[in-house]
Parts: sequence; structure tokens; C-alpha cells
Amino acid sequence: MKFDQKSAQGDTPSQWTYRVKYARRKTIGIYVSAEQGVEVRVPHFVSRKEADDFVALKRNWIEKQLQSIARRPQRFEPTYRWGEPVYFLGEQQIIHHLDGDGVDIVLPGQADDSVELIERRVQGWFRQQALALFTERHDHWQGHMRQLNLPVSTLHIRAMKRRWGTCRSNGKIIINTHLARYPLNCVDVVIVHELCHLLEFNHSRHFYRLMDQAMPDWKTHDAMLNRLSLLY
Ligand SMILES: [Zn+2]
Repeated sequence: MKFDQKSAQGDTPSQWTYRVKYARRKTIGIYVSAEQGVEVRVPHFVSRKEADDFVALKRNWIEKQLQSIARRPQRFEPTYRWGEPVYFLGEQQIIHHLDGDGVDIVLPGQADDSVELIERRVQGWFRQQALALFTERHDHWQGHMRQLNLPVSTLHIRAMKRRWGTCRSNGKIIINTHLARYPLNCVDVVIVHELCHLLEFNHSRHFYRLMDQAMPDWKTHDAMLNRLSLLY
């Protein structure tokens, strides 16, 4: 299951510029991203003028892409200081080294711990929680989907940049550690998705029939995860 995790960047579409990059390729390609802006990749046999003409022709499309990037809300990023929140299961949890009002999770540490040290502690806690959570949900759904005769699978976690989960033909399911930030239904839809891959490797019609059978409202959960992953 793939996802796109790009942060918002205010880019005024009326005054954008673009970079032309010559590359070994057969056609001109235009790439628009929050990080890189507009990049035009051009084959060596195409002149600069031809490239500029092509960009002019695609102007509307490029501006639409820039607008949709600018409209994206700023993502929440944890600051890793005591008393500051991190997201877990769709809720902000205040993490502190001291027990007190409004504190959800107490971790060992000192007031003057560095951001790096707090980050390591918080991430250690998060990994532990994520593994326990995903294992429990994996076992739950393995049982719930019993009638599909799923092969045996094992659950692993890994912090990944571009995927929520993967499933190997040997039954090894890897779930993105970051998924534990989101509500339970978002966690479940990824786990069910990967469990369905045990029976059907491709995103074929058969695959989506399995999804419908196992989790009739999976599309709602999928959409929620896509939406929330732009926010935190
Ligand atoms: Zn998939």
C-alpha cells in the first residue's frame, strides 16, 4: 500500500519558475512537487525553445498542481520536548518525564535532556506500542477472516517513507511503524489490505472482492487515512 507524504509549502502559482534538466530519456516530463517546485526533464535531442514551448502548453496543468500543493495543510511535526504531544491512535498524547496534570505518558528522563535523547526515548516507546498494537490487530483479523483460509503470516514493523505496509509471498507482513499515529480503523484497513495480499498478490478485481468481503467499508477507512496523513 503506497502513500504520498509531502508537506505543504505555500507556492503562489501566479509567479512560478521552472528548472530544465537534460536527461537520458525519450520524452519531456514535467514534475511538480512541494519540495522541488517545477522541474522539466528533457531528452538531449530537444532544444531549450522546444522545452519552453512544451511548458507553455502545459501551463494550466502545472498551475493546477501548484495550487493543490499550496492548499495542503501544514503537517503536524512532533518537537520532542517534555510536555509536548505526539500522535498515537489518532490522539495527541503528552509525553513527560514527570507525572502530572495533562500528562498521558511518563518516560524515564531528566528536565534538561536533549531533544535527540527525548526523541530516541519517545521513538523507542512508540515502536514498542506499535508492535504490540499491530500484532494484536493482525491476530484479530487473521481470526476474523478465517473463512478465507488465509495462509500463516508473521507481522513485523519498520519505519518506511512511502508505504504503509508490504506483504511477501512467504507470509511476512511489514507494517509501517508510523501507522500507529492514526485511529484504529486506519490501522485495521492497512492490516486487512496486507492480509488480502496473502491470497492475491496484485490489486486485481479479485483482490478488491476479498477486501469487500473482509471489511465492507474499507474505502471509508482508506480515505480517512489518506486525509489524516496530510495532517499528522
Ligand atoms: Zn497492496
